[in-house]
Amino acid sequence: MHEKINDFVNSIEEKVINYRRDFHKYAESAWTEYRTASLIARRLTDLGYDVKIGKEVMNVADRMGVPSEAVLERHYQRALAQGADVEFAEKMRGGFPAVVGILKNGEGPVIAMRFDFDAVDMKENSSPDHRPVKEGFASVNDEAMHSCGHDGHASIGLGVAETLMQVKDQVKGTVKLIFQHAEEGVRGAKSIATSGILDDVDYIYAGHLGSGSPKGAVVCSRDNFLATAKFDAFFTGAPAHAGGKPEGGHNAMLAAATAVLNLYAIPRHSGGSTRINVGRLNAGTGRNVICPNAHLAIETRGETSALQEHMYNYAMKVLENSAAMHGCKLEIVAMGGASSGKSDRDFAAIGKKVADTIEDFNLVLEAPPSNAGGGSEDFSYMMERVQKHGGKATFFGIGADLGGWGHHTAEFDLDESAFKGAIKLFSLLALHLMDNWEA
Ligand SMILES: [Zn+2]
Repeated sequence: MHEKINDFVNSIEEKVINYRRDFHKYAESAWTEYRTASLIARRLTDLGYDVKIGKEVMNVADRMGVPSEAVLERHYQRALAQGADVEFAEKMRGGFPAVVGILKNGEGPVIAMRFDFDAVDMKENSSPDHRPVKEGFASVNDEAMHSCGHDGHASIGLGVAETLMQVKDQVKGTVKLIFQHAEEGVRGAKSIATSGILDDVDYIYAGHLGSGSPKGAVVCSRDNFLATAKFDAFFTGAPAHAGGKPEGGHNAMLAAATAVLNLYAIPRHSGGSTRINVGRLNAGTGRNVICPNAHLAIETRGETSALQEHMYNYAMKVLENSAAMHGCKLEIVAMGGASSGKSDRDFAAIGKKVADTIEDFNLVLEAPPSNAGGGSEDFSYMMERVQKHGGKATFFGIGADLGGWGHHTAEFDLDESAFKGAIKLFSLLALHLMDNWEA
């Protein structure tokens, strides 16, 4: 079985790389991934998966940071013009680009894997030396670039889909391949996590390419993520003539400015590291008008979900009291979020056992060498959901060389030879869990 999978994955490597280059060229950022998602849904259907999409696998109330209707529609039309699958895209219209492929074969565990597929809001380097430009697959979409590697994740997911279908008779149980929108800004996972699709899952895993691990390395339990909340605060006051009757207004800019200074003044916490940032402040209408409105873009983070909640609750107190001080109304809009996520070490140990047998890897670690972190990952919502009802979860770091550049840079270049090791690991782990399942 092991050899069969090894050979099969090697044989589809070029096809998987072509998927990646296609996703890369037509990069789509959060909530607008209609082309990417509809083509994935088509491919899974053709392979024989039972495919669920859009609202079937999303909780509408838990969508966060969704762009305006006008932006969604513009990108929907762009997706159609760029070769989206019309039948599936239609069902995703309005901001519902999630896809789940299900393969059920008799009794056994329910195993879920998650592959995210959104691009980053940025423009790709157009220099002729940049490999995607040289080889003709640089992003043709302005302000959307696969500079995090999620095009690779989506392609690995399709590779796993092909591989498991190839050995369908060996699948004993249920496999759910979850293709997730809007990971950037941690906006998409929660809507899938609370939809019910994970509520019978016994094992869930996912991974990220690169992220500091060199090619050939695998870390079987990355979980040094910060829990986070991204939210906007809107202050509404009242305008007045700044010379004639300043006391008649309610100054929203003062409320916002008071809030900014005091948000950064939230006292330290002994329980672990925390962060707060106000990334944007917009306010005001005219020089001689008492400012009637202000907007802040804020994020809080914590090493654990509890620390994150502490920061968020403290921030709310600061915002509410700053608004009250100047007679303004406050409205908070959630724009994204993630919990801290904790990999199950006993599950990671099983992952290591399987990874140790794969020829593509030369360094397999059960846990990360250091626990330094600062990023967030919304797969944590899915981990938490599965763990809450007794299932196990882990998150893999899949080593890949990035051409000397970091994630989220315009020069980012992904090492495509890292894909096949990941496909083997994800497929073999599912089969291993099924073979060793005791109900
Ligand atoms: Zn990423």
